[in-house]
Amino acid sequence: MKNPKYIFVVGGVMSSVGKGIAASSIGKILQSRGYRVAIMKADMYVNIDAGTIRPAEHGEVFVGEDGVEADQDLGNYERFTGQTSKRVNYMTTGQIYQEVIRRERNLEYGGEDVEVYPDIPKEIIRRIEVCQKENKSEITVIEYGGTVGEHQLFPFLEATRMMRSKFPGDVFVVLTSYLPTPSLLGEQKSKPTQRAVLDLYSVGLKPDFVLCRADKPATADIKRTISNVCSIPVERIISAPDVYSIYDVPVNFENENFGNTLLKTIGLHPRERDLADWTALANKIKKIDKEVTIGIVGKYFNFKSCKDTYISVIESINHASWAQGYKPKILWLDSEKYENNPKLLSELDGLDGIIVPGGFGNRGVEGMILAADYARRKKIPYFGLCLGVQILTISYARNVLKLKGANSTEMNANTPHPVIATMADQIDKIKNKNYGGSMRLGAYACTLAKDTVAFGAYKTVNISERHRHRYEVNTKYVAELEQAGLVFSGRSPDGVLMEIAELPKKVHPFYLGTQFHPEFKSRPLSPHPLFSAFVKACVGKQK
Ligand code: GLN
Repeated sequence: MKNPKYIFVVGGVMSSVGKGIAASSIGKILQSRGYRVAIMKADMYVNIDAGTIRPAEHGEVFVGEDGVEADQDLGNYERFTGQTSKRVNYMTTGQIYQEVIRRERNLEYGGEDVEVYPDIPKEIIRRIEVCQKENKSEITVIEYGGTVGEHQLFPFLEATRMMRSKFPGDVFVVLTSYLPTPSLLGEQKSKPTQRAVLDLYSVGLKPDFVLCRADKPATADIKRTISNVCSIPVERIISAPDVYSIYDVPVNFENENFGNTLLKTIGLHPRERDLADWTALANKIKKIDKEVTIGIVGKYFNFKSCKDTYISVIESINHASWAQGYKPKILWLDSEKYENNPKLLSELDGLDGIIVPGGFGNRGVEGMILAADYARRKKIPYFGLCLGVQILTISYARNVLKLKGANSTEMNANTPHPVIATMADQIDKIKNKNYGGSMRLGAYACTLAKDTVAFGAYKTVNISERHRHRYEVNTKYVAELEQAGLVFSGRSPDGVLMEIAELPKKVHPFYLGTQFHPEFKSRPLSPHPLFSAFVKACVGKQK
């Protein structure tokens, strides 16, 4: 193998312009050329991981196989490359300082003083190299959160600069920048991007590529301007306009000849690409005209960013719907409104199905329980994800078993019927406020019972899925719930933990919840079997 290559993706002008999709798409096109790729995210926040961050503000917490609670971009990396991300694919300022301080306390700096420069960048570099080694990647793509010019990003940019000297000819920078079009002018402006390039110069870096994010394609004129002013060959100024779906981005990059130029620039052979299936999917999506309407009954809506909050759920719905020739129409239903006015539940009649996604704490839970009961009685397909299976179980206990006040101890510690309760190993953690990274996290095996809806979907008995929860179905109530008709179709291999609850097909078209998060494993070209089964039931309801 040649020297490993490193490509840093940094943002210019402003955040939220799609660096994550850009990094994923760069990974995808390099992988489609037969290169071993790893993608890594570096976030500037001091949090050790994303597990303690509010999803409505910062987006979904993505969980990896090894239990890492990471930034949502790791989900994009997985969906684009099909590779699973691990702890080594994610770093934060918090992790970096924690490790440097641990080493200092262990006298590993041999009596020297420990400095922000160069000790922090050195630790950043160490982590990038660990990621490269673990993944044996020929090309490692590192996405930096934030925007150049931000203070918090300096140690990271310095790490890139140091790597450039350490590995000359193997380290590259892609600036993902934004070209605004002021409405009065109606013309794209490149000045802010020129400014971002200067910001990179000021820390000793020069971009090798500029990706021009904008609503429209970058014009030849503007490419030439950026090329001239920033001394970057014009073929390395890549147009990255808004597209129909995120899955168009790698295709669009290849239309710009990005794959060839990138490989040539980094000194690797521009092998033949294989992007046919992907391109076919991206094109198919645009032609779909049939619609399936799915309501998300949740609570983390601040109407700017629910797309980020539930990104893996949305993408899983997309993948399963597209495969069946449907375009999903997703409605955001704030569960709290049903608590004040249960009559509003009748709006669910007009939907093809509902999903109750993951969540924490009391707020909105009573409304979800009402929605679960309504969906059961009205035979509306219901799919519960993590909190959603707990809601399903509570609703069943209250309304079918008639256990008045049944609840989760998370919502009411003094409930007379704790049908959902803490796992034994969680009791001390909660008492000691040991909240960070302490849930049941990551992949666990699960055994399915034959002749169930779950088995019908997976078509296999042994599965593995990713978890993120502290509470679970209380084993004391399992027999009673089963006698009343609820089926626990998936359990931990030792039989102790209930992983899937469902109603049989002859009772309800689809009424199923999982203690795990299937949404983390759906891929555009291989939808998750449970999402496929759910969407099939939703389409069935239309008929
Ligand atoms: N709050 C619930 C628990 O901790 C559900 C968690 C989730 O939905 N991810 O068990």
